[in-house]
This record gives sequence, C-alpha cells and structure tokens, in this order.
Amino acid sequence: MARETKKLVIDACEICQKKHFLTVEYDQLVTTMEWPPKQTTVSVEYCCPRVAKTATYSVDFDGIVEDVKVVSLTLNEDGEKVFQYGSNCSATRLNSRERLGGAAIPIGIAETVEEYQLQFDVWSDGNNCAAADIVKMLAIM
Ligand SMILES: [Zn+2]
Repeated sequence: MARETKKLVIDACEICQKKHFLTVEYDQLVTTMEWPPKQTTVSVEYCCPRVAKTATYSVDFDGIVEDVKVVSLTLNEDGEKVFQYGSNCSATRLNSRERLGGAAIPIGIAETVEEYQLQFDVWSDGNNCAAADIVKMLAIM
C-alpha cells in the first residue's frame, strides 16, 4: 500500500463554475498492472474557495484506491499573495464587484518582521479622510 498524491484541475466548479486546482492524497491498493485493468471513481468533497460552499467532484483513479483526502485547493495556481491594511483590510470591500469580484481569498493576519508605525500622513480624496501609511520605525540615537 502506497500513499500517493494526485493534482487535479476542476474545469468548472459546480458551485461557482470557475476553474479550481485540487490536490488529493490517497492509498493505492491495487495498481494498473492487474488484468483486466481496474478503475476507481471517487466523489471528492471540497469547499469552493469563492463561495465557501461544499461541492463534489468526481475523480477517476487507475487501479483500486481508498481513503481519498483533499490536501489543498486553490482558485488559481499563479495566485498572488497581497498584503492589505487600513480600509483595504475589509474582505467585503476587496471582493466587491468593482474590485476583485470575489476572487480574493483571505489567508489570515500578517505581522511585519521589523518594527513599523502607522502614520496618518496622507489625505484620501476618495474617502475624504486622513489615510494611514506604514512607516519604518527609526532607531533612537
Ligand atoms: Zn468554486
């Protein structure tokens, strides 16, 4: 019995109709060396990263497999990581129709390695208020 990994492309998610990249792990019980060749079809459950709803995807495996588990799921393989602060922290605002339209997936809270301070030194014409900037703290001499 060998633990294997398979990378799959979901062409159209049943929930959002978009493309997702799914990686699953499974145990290979019987290989394709057997005759007649055996196949296993497994319904894999995943959580749609756009809508956060459960969806299923039917996967064909060569041979006999069991214990299929989802390892990772991404919307896009070349997805960029962005760091947002201030009013842009709002996932609702970032994913609004006029911005990313639901394509952004919040990963978590980030922390800077070095010391930074928030400085309200910019005027936002769009929001008509002072806007913050992250500035590096200077060492005190
Ligand atoms: Zn989806």
